[in-house]
Amino acid sequence: MQLRHRWPITCHIIPVNVHINSYKSSPITYACNNELRKCTDCLGWAARDASGVLSPYKFTRRAVQSDDVSIKITHCGVCYAEVVFPRNKHGDAIYPLVPGHEIAGIVQEVGSNVSGFKVGDHVGVGTYVNSCRECDYCNGRLEVYCEKGVVYTYNRPDFDGTITQGGFSTYIVVHQRYCFRIPDAYPLASAAPLLCAGITVYSPMMRHKMNQPGKSLGVIGLGGLGHMAVKFGKALGLNVTALAKSLDFIIDTVSADHSFDFYLSLLKTAGVLVVLGVPNEVKLKPRSLILGMKSISGSGVGGTKEMQEMLDFCAAHKIYPNIEIIPIQYVNEAIERLIKKDVKYRFVVDIENSLK
Ligand SMILES: [Zn+2]
Ligand SMILES: [Zn+2]
Repeated sequence: MQLRHRWPITCHIIPVNVHINSYKSSPITYACNNELRKCTDCLGWAARDASGVLSPYKFTRRAVQSDDVSIKITHCGVCYAEVVFPRNKHGDAIYPLVPGHEIAGIVQEVGSNVSGFKVGDHVGVGTYVNSCRECDYCNGRLEVYCEKGVVYTYNRPDFDGTITQGGFSTYIVVHQRYCFRIPDAYPLASAAPLLCAGITVYSPMMRHKMNQPGKSLGVIGLGGLGHMAVKFGKALGLNVTALAKSLDFIIDTVSADHSFDFYLSLLKTAGVLVVLGVPNEVKLKPRSLILGMKSISGSGVGGTKEMQEMLDFCAAHKIYPNIEIIPIQYVNEAIERLIKKDVKYRFVVDIENSLK
């Protein structure tokens, strides 16, 4: 019998099916015996039911294995996913559920095969922590589109059968492939939102060659994603505009239902509109695409290669998300404010100083 977990579309994560049992034959299944396991208590804040209210929760991470990095978490961003999953909006919540997938911190231990990271390095973890590492997408460093289903940072079964838990916690253990260098001079609090909001915008911009100065970019929705699109656009020398005619590219971050015909009419010939928000459906008249050879495209976070590029790019160009730093004790209120769009533009939880 094969267990199938349906993973519906959410925030800006792509939908995939996760075939739990298919991992059992995988050569990368973790050897989890008691000798390898070091039981260290991890303190997190978890939702216990569909109210989504977070409260303190103690649990155990896996022991550090040869390719693993253990990270003392200093900061974690608050993404709209922190509304969707703790409140079981898709009916797949596994409680207790520790959310958080914009994780920044400091390496505290590395496995014997880890060469790219050492204790004390500043690092980040984004929306996924595992993938098959064998398929075409993994080989192309686009792991988020892994054919076997990427393992998300929380609320998913990992290859060892444990349920992943997110970054509203004191530390995380992750395979080195899904861990990213944060340049030393870059503030860890600012780095956190890059790990989901930043990469979600950066990836489609690079894929559609929106790194050529002089091209024109329109942004719909100025929130956690949209404000990063504006910052990237300016750093890349694009004409970032309030919505006007003749745009090369539009980034649409709006999750409320809306008609796409108007926005498509603003594109020049062969222009592209990329959908990053999650309205219930995309409504448009086909002629909006046909006349002018226009495209509508989707995108979900990004692969590991472009994640590192994006972090280095932000450091080189001094691009910082606008953040409001909060203690973990404020997180439930922050999530309520996020729902009301009462944040400019990202909450970041100061884990290091408040989660004790
Ligand atoms: Zn997110
Ligand atoms: Zn794969």
